[in-house]
Amino acid sequence: MTSRAATSIAVRAPAKLNLFLAVGPPAEDGYHALTTVFLAVSMFDTVTVSHVRARTGLRLAVSGPDSAAVPADASNLAWRAAVLLAQRSGIDADADIAIDKQIPVAAGLAGGSADAAATLVALDGLWGTALDRGQLAELAAELGSDVPFSLHGHVALGTGRGDRLSAVLARGRTDWVLGIARTGLSTPVVYAELDRLRAQRDLPSDGDPAGVLTALRQGDPELLSGALTNDLAVAALSLRPDLRRALRVGEEAGALGQLISGSGPTVAYLARDAEHAITVAARLSAEGLFASVRVASGPAPGARFARSAR
Ligand code: ATP
Repeated sequence: MTSRAATSIAVRAPAKLNLFLAVGPPAEDGYHALTTVFLAVSMFDTVTVSHVRARTGLRLAVSGPDSAAVPADASNLAWRAAVLLAQRSGIDADADIAIDKQIPVAAGLAGGSADAAATLVALDGLWGTALDRGQLAELAAELGSDVPFSLHGHVALGTGRGDRLSAVLARGRTDWVLGIARTGLSTPVVYAELDRLRAQRDLPSDGDPAGVLTALRQGDPELLSGALTNDLAVAALSLRPDLRRALRVGEEAGALGQLISGSGPTVAYLARDAEHAITVAARLSAEGLFASVRVASGPAPGARFARSAR
């Protein structure tokens, strides 16, 4: 029996949290050296790619609650991923790309990176370019610092710009409540604010993720709650003072700990287990501080096939 190539492939990729994020001074190219511990959590965008009639190029559609905030043109990271894969493989970039966007936009959850990673995996399947994971990871790193982790998923230590990943042992799962703000924060603006604040005063950074790594290895959420670290928090709080209250209410709602995710403004609250997460989420919802309050758990897998059709 001959197998026909797939005409449509769907891949989902997860949101991420940074459980530890130490930011070094900016290098000459403006990028900051990072040490970060990534955790992929169970909130996913799905990218579905399908064949178009020959040589009609790329078409992109975005659906989901935040779709209006996402460009549906060549500036979209998914589109850029498609162009890069086609160029490197020496083929024409012809495909329909549909993003079902469930990861909030400009939220510090790496939603754009998830879409780029999912697009690489989906189009690699559709176009039959058959790159291995290492080759896909190289393309991912060209697209953005968080894209390699979106591809990888689970838990990882990120160095360099966050794009050099190494393995982290994690026992069991962790349960989270995510407080999604009504408006996003721009990552470059948050980094610029950190540079500005550091030029004014001494802001010590603990570059050692040992506390988070030990807590993950032991699968101990109490220990993890005391080790959560984010150097960008001071900058996000400077730009959005209202986040102070969002952090404070975590304690009142019974969370074990809380932190701003990446460049924010999403606040991630750590729960003891799934049941506790639902209780904390209900209490946080009642505060009325957020556009939405969602529960998620980690580690979640990286960009993976969800379905294909022939
Ligand atoms: P990170 O945590 O990686 O810094 P983020 O999660 O804060 O990023 P994103 O949701 O990835 O932010 O999007 C940041 C900006 O990138 C958006 O405001 C949007 O204009 C642009 N963008 C381009 N492509 C996408 C995409 N596929 N999804 C979301 N935003 C995109």
